[in-house]
Amino acid sequence: MSPAAANRTEAIGIVGAGQLARMMAESASALGLRAVVLAERPDDSATAVAAEVVPGVPSVAADLTALAARAAVVTFDHEQVDLDLVAAVAAAGTVVRPGVDTLRMATDKAEMRRRVQAAGLPGPAFEVLAGGGVLAAVEGFAGRHGWPVVLKAARGGYDGKGVWPVAGPEEAARVVEEADAAGTPLLVEEQVAIDAELAVVVARRPGGQAVTWTPVETAQVGGVCREVLVPGRLDPAVVADAAALGAAVAEVAGATGVLAVELFWSAGRLLVNEVAARPHNSGHWTIEGAVTSQFENHLRAVLDLPLGSTAVAAPAVATVNVFGGPDGADPVDRLAGALAVDGAHVHLYGKEPRPGRKLGHVTVCGEDPDDVRHRAWTAARALGTVVPAGIDLDEEGP
Ligand code: ADP
Repeated sequence: MSPAAANRTEAIGIVGAGQLARMMAESASALGLRAVVLAERPDDSATAVAAEVVPGVPSVAADLTALAARAAVVTFDHEQVDLDLVAAVAAAGTVVRPGVDTLRMATDKAEMRRRVQAAGLPGPAFEVLAGGGVLAAVEGFAGRHGWPVVLKAARGGYDGKGVWPVAGPEEAARVVEEADAAGTPLLVEEQVAIDAELAVVVARRPGGQAVTWTPVETAQVGGVCREVLVPGRLDPAVVADAAALGAAVAEVAGATGVLAVELFWSAGRLLVNEVAARPHNSGHWTIEGAVTSQFENHLRAVLDLPLGSTAVAAPAVATVNVFGGPDGADPVDRLAGALAVDGAHVHLYGKEPRPGRKLGHVTVCGEDPDDVRHRAWTAARALGTVVPAGIDLDEEGP
């Protein structure tokens, strides 16, 4: 075998070069594998750690083909991909994992809702708004389910962008008009009273063998995940149900690799909210907090290798996301303060600092949930993260 061919068999091509690709590349390195990333910009997060960088964008066929030519399997850092192009690359012989069918479910909220419902799994009431008479359909839906409702872009949304809670017909009309002008397909959902948000991460091999990490509780502020708590505050029986629901969704999706399912806990019911067919922010705690991380199991799964144990490595784990502070300072310049916090595992993504931009995360493992949460926040604050309204730290702490 030529050296080039040998390289190719150990290379994982990653579409996108953000922080998820960076953490996949870190895991790849430990396993002696090569991460090859398709990077839009030379300073994308993963370019600093990947074994190889292919410059390009996922919407250009030649760029995707260039990535595919250098890798044994192609996987994804993000879901902003052209599914027809991905399908063409797969048809030309590249192993693409997850496959197009799974990606379609994860990139289209209307498709995801339909498939979850068709499988008999619980979710919010919804209606896909296609064709004419969109506003009348929203009003009809609200007539049956009550205002407020939530309008969502079927495709292209992330971190709460593309999610619009609307109180009544006038607000709905504004959103519908703007979406129409932008050519954004919409769906409408009942506005669920959320008592807690959970997330379940599952890793699944091509043959269907799957492992599930323990479901976590997430705190979202303005649609953005701020902290992840393991265990969360919910009853263990609910957590077990959440794990089963996550695994069922991964099965419905036919996932290969890691798939994350966001759930609502609402009035005594678990409801599927969102599906991501890749490692997920709610699984970053697994790097230190579980026997095998989501990133390592993602690589194992897409290479069809045995999956590692998902057992927790500590009784309590907290992950807090690091966001750029108002002064625009780089958190890397403040490492000393964060590293002075006992047990703080700091992950900075090497992204250009901007106020409010997600720049990293901190994980703390320990014995007591309040203690690890408090220490993780102390380190995140030392890095410049402002505690947002909605996150209550006052009566917490050891
Ligand atoms: P994104 O894809 O941007 O993450 P989500 O669909 O997960 O969008 O929605 C972002 C946030 O908006 C959720 O975490 C939740 O807090 C809120 N949300 C979404 N859908 C509903 C709903 N049907 N009822 C109430 N809140 C919702």
